Amino acid sequence: MPVRIGIIGAGSAVFSMRVVGDLIRTNELSGSEVVLMDIDRERLNAVEILANRLIDEFGSDLKFRKTTSLEDAIDGSDFVINTALVGGHEYLEKVRAIGEKYGYYRGIDAQEFNMVSDYYTISNFNQLSYFVEIAKKIAQLSPHAWLIQAANPVFEGTNLITRAVPDVKVVGFCHGHHGVLKIAEKLGIDTNKLDWQVAGFNHAIWLNRFVYDGENAYQMLEKLRKEAWTPKTPFDDQLSPMAFEMYDFYGMMPIGDTVRNSSWRYHKSFSEKLKWYGWPWGGADSEIGWKWYEETLRITVSIIEKLAKAARKSKDRIFTRENLERFAKENNFPKEAFDEFFAIVEGKSGEQHIPFIKAITNGKPERLVVNVKNEGAIADIPDDVVVEVPVIVDEKGIHREKIDPPLNDKVIRLYLYPRMMRMEMAIRAFLEKDIRYIYEMLYRDPRTESEGQVKAVIREIVNLPENKKMKEHYGLK
Ligand code: NAD
Repeated sequence: MPVRIGIIGAGSAVFSMRVVGDLIRTNELSGSEVVLMDIDRERLNAVEILANRLIDEFGSDLKFRKTTSLEDAIDGSDFVINTALVGGHEYLEKVRAIGEKYGYYRGIDAQEFNMVSDYYTISNFNQLSYFVEIAKKIAQLSPHAWLIQAANPVFEGTNLITRAVPDVKVVGFCHGHHGVLKIAEKLGIDTNKLDWQVAGFNHAIWLNRFVYDGENAYQMLEKLRKEAWTPKTPFDDQLSPMAFEMYDFYGMMPIGDTVRNSSWRYHKSFSEKLKWYGWPWGGADSEIGWKWYEETLRITVSIIEKLAKAARKSKDRIFTRENLERFAKENNFPKEAFDEFFAIVEGKSGEQHIPFIKAITNGKPERLVVNVKNEGAIADIPDDVVVEVPVIVDEKGIHREKIDPPLNDKVIRLYLYPRMMRMEMAIRAFLEKDIRYIYEMLYRDPRTESEGQVKAVIREIVNLPENKKMKEHYGLK
């Protein structure tokens, strides 16, 4: 059945292409229309050209349209995917530098259990505000539509939306749970015989069930603990000393980005990060690891631009592994930078957005891991808090699996509770227009030495020209 999908922040190039790549292979959604929306016309044009080229080369009857109007992308859509980053990575770096000037290593948004470097919950007011604006526009223009939240912070964002615009059907997506498959691959076990569950919050999920061929497979992790380990990229941390340290302390294995989200003890300096996340990057969230990631993103944007130029010039086929490899060589791009593109071409994007849309539209049940209101899925977590759990999706909606065995009380009370408390402070600050919550978050921060430091760092951030609305929102002078 054809649907209409609006993608906001469609210039987030690889993401859009992954969605397109998945759509092309989904016959059940043929005839669908995709409205690509972004404020950056250059990125938007390049993505549109390549999306259309993918359609031509793979023979699909999807239709693409581009727009710079948010209303246009939302009005009439059945699904709205938000992947926009307001202010871009440049803003994040600017604010991180201000934080560091005042003694906050890696910036004020790097917080205990939330170290992911583009997961700003305190200072990207414009991002949170955009989440609410999108949700309100959906409620007004396409109240039947699903809002698929891919932009970060997914945890704060989905909780904010469910409270600010309760009638909108919002669901958050992340691919962190793929960490389970990485473990299985390393163990060399057949994933068809693996029965697993993860549960928690976004970037805070734990392996509560790990059964292989009918047997508890947790003891197989011991084999991996003993193996020599060096990371292949800054993100390669699923089997790092940090992962096992968290496993030993909490009694369950942290999965995916959760490993990045340990406490300050492990993040307080680059040398500490090196110890726990491995040489030479010290993980994705060190100054070196994040630089690596930003450079990778820059290369990707430049590949997209060059590929779009090539597509404009010639009708020669682009999207085969062989042709992409040749293109990489001719343009001096590192071959690894094309892994994402190979995955798109070969249908292995791993993203859940299109499987979700297919299941909701055509009813064939899909098992996915999504962010939805708890409503009893995790015992001891309030019903109205959004959790990341395995679900079955069909035309009736999202059905949460019973989390069995339950998360242990250490994970719930020592990890999820403090993480939930930070989410509460961030979104209460926003909803109640009360800066005191933000000050309070910083007073509780181990890097804070004085009240003056807290006030000064916030003053400098809200006085940035792009934060005029934030300053007004909090009534600051
Ligand atoms: P990016 O800056 O490369 O792309 C974001 C896009 O948003 C840009 O094209 C930009 O022009 C656009 N944009 C900015 N303001 C906009 C607005 N007001 N309206 C429409 N579009 C706007 O960023 P990225 O690295 O691709 O990351 C995008 C988001 O996705 C971030 O929040 C990031 O944290 C998140 N992310 C989520 C996952 C996940 O699994 N959920 C994985 C990776 C990244």
